[in-house]
This record gives sequence, structure tokens and C-alpha cells, in this order.
Amino acid sequence: MNNTQTDYDVIVVGGGPSGATAAHEIALAGHRVLLLERAFRIKPCGGAIPPCMLEEFDIPRSLLKAEIQSARMISPTVQKVDMPIEGTFVGMVDRDEFDPWLRSRAQQAGAELELAAFKKLEYLDDTTIQVTYVSKDHDTEVRQATARCVLGADGARSKVARQSIPKHANVPWVLAYHEIVKAPDTATEDYDPQRCEVWYQGKLSPDFYAWVFPHGNSASIGVGSALKDFSAQDSVSALRTISGLDTAETIRKEGAPIPMKPMKRWDDGKGVLVSGDAAGVVAPASGEGIYYAMLCGRQAQC
Ligand SMILES: Cc1cc2nc3c(=O)[nH]c(=O)nc-3n(C[C@H](O)[C@H](O)[C@H](O)COP(=O)(O)OP(=O)(O)OC[C@H]3O[C@@H](n4cnc5c(N)ncnc54)[C@H](O)[C@@H]3O)c2cc1C
Repeated sequence: MNNTQTDYDVIVVGGGPSGATAAHEIALAGHRVLLLERAFRIKPCGGAIPPCMLEEFDIPRSLLKAEIQSARMISPTVQKVDMPIEGTFVGMVDRDEFDPWLRSRAQQAGAELELAAFKKLEYLDDTTIQVTYVSKDHDTEVRQATARCVLGADGARSKVARQSIPKHANVPWVLAYHEIVKAPDTATEDYDPQRCEVWYQGKLSPDFYAWVFPHGNSASIGVGSALKDFSAQDSVSALRTISGLDTAETIRKEGAPIPMKPMKRWDDGKGVLVSGDAAGVVAPASGEGIYYAMLCGRQAQC
């Protein structure tokens, strides 16, 4: 399908799990791929992944910061139920390491990676799309490249989706916020480095849940809510106190939206497709999106 009239066969916008996976697999199939990643910040994320992902996507176990052996569910009446994860585990990845690893793998397969912020796309004719972007790799120069297809894997507030897919703005979302703290060296009464905690309590989150996810040397303590007047910072502060992590050193504080429903349309009927968070593909009960983003990226073959 190589169309030598265009600079690339596919331009992938966004080098998170979805875009980096798509770029890797499309390049492996022999197509010319440009992967644009703005590398604006580390993606805020609890980093919990299912173990099947390691095998299905050939992810080395060495990227895991923790292998969680049990989940503690805490009910609204503070009933605690420990559920052992028998014979397997929940993996924890750090996105500042995981995403660059995925992008580097895409490069090794032949994708061209450019640190750049996507600005706009327009059709030059029925089969040629021109993408305009600002390149950090070239002194913030405004550049243009053409391709037959564009994959928008640029996250929950996807610019590609906004420009190409009708009704994108209608996708419901929760705002998820977490604080990454230095974890205690050993287990304490309230913190176990091999156990994740899921809190279902109105005072911590009226409409989603709160969590403590150990990551080896660090831990993610977070909460989600769709309510505009809800203070996620106050809630995480309360959970840090309950978990005995109130005095732990804070490494980062960050938040981002999690889409709660897949979009009805993922393409513009021509050469533009969106995937992962940009298409609203997240398990709504858990907010788990990494695995599904990668599955979407894999499906986005041309
Ligand atoms: C606080 C929080 C906790 C979470 N915890 C978990 C969890 O424990 N487990 C789980 O599975 N999921 C979790 N999620 C959800 C998960 O992070 C996402 O579903 C997943 O990252 C989606 O992958 P993606 O590749 O579609 O999008 P993203 O990971 O958002 O990647 C999009 C990429 O596009 C880039 N980009 C954006 N705009 C542009 C542009 N204009 N130009 C170029 N590049 C651009 C961004 O820099 C980013 O690298 C959490 C989310 C949040 C906010």
C-alpha cells in the first residue's frame, strides 16, 4: 500500500501505550511511520497492568516496579476484604520508563520518532493528509508532513479527535488525581508493598474510588471523581493519613481525565482513526486503560 506521493504511510500522533504500540506494529509490517510525541510531561497514571499484557505485547518483566500479590477492598462501612491473587499478580509500571521503552521499540522497528506537538491536519486530496506540527527536535520549527492515514493516539483530550470526529466532546470523563510518594522501606501496619488497596467510600470519592498502588520504591495514592466541586487533593491527603503515608516524601502531584465511555465513531470515514483514550476506550469501573490502549493500537493496522 506504499504511496510514494506521501512522506509517510501513517503519521501517529501521541507516543503513549496506544500510539507507540501502533507505530511499532505498523512499522514492523513494513510501512513508513512518523510517530509524533510532544513529551510534555510524564503521563499521570497508577500504572497497574494485567499480567497477560507481558506475554501478549512482549513486555519484559524487568519493567515492572512491583508484582502485587493481593487486593484489599475497603467498603463504605470500612469492612476490609483481602483478595489473594493466586498464581499470578497485578503488575505495576512507571510511565516515565514504560512509555519511552515502547517508543524506543517502535523506533527499532523502523518508525521515525519526532519530539513534536501536533497542531492540525487537513486533506490535500482524498488520499493525502497534511499534518502540521511544532518540532522540539528542530528548534520549535513549524513543520509539515503528509501521509495517507493519521492515527490520533493523543490521549483523552485528543486534538486529532476534536478536529476530525463529530461529537468527540460528548465523551464523559472523571478527573483522576494522584500523589506519588516515597514508599516505606518495609511493610507497616497500614502499608504492604505487595498489596494494592481500593477504597469505596463516599468521603474519599463520591462517584468513583480511591487507591493505594505500591510501585517498589514509590507508591501512587489517588482518587477519581466527575464532580466539579470535589477536592481530590483533600481526599488524597485524607487517604495518605489513613495509610500512614502522610509524612512520606512527595515525589509528584498530578492529575488527568479518564474517559468513561468509548466514542460512537473512531474514524472520519476516510484516513483518520483514533485509538486508546482518544477513542474513550477505558474500563469504566476501574479506569484501567493501558492494556486496552495497546489493544486498540494493535488493531489500527492499515
Ligand atoms: C491518575 C490516573 C491513574 C490511572 N491509573 C491507571 C492504572 O493504574 N492502570 C491503567 O491501566 N490505566 C490507568 N489510567 C488510565 C491510563 O493512563 C490511560 O488509559 C492510558 O494511558 C491511555 O493510553 P493512550 O496511549 O491512549 O493515551 P496516553 O497515555 O494519554 O498517551 C497520549 C500521548 O499523546 C501525547 N500527546 C498528547 N497531545 C499531543 C500532541 N498535540 N502532539 C503530540 N503528542 C501528544 C501525550 O504526551 C501522550 O504521550 C490512569 C489514568 C489517570 C489519569
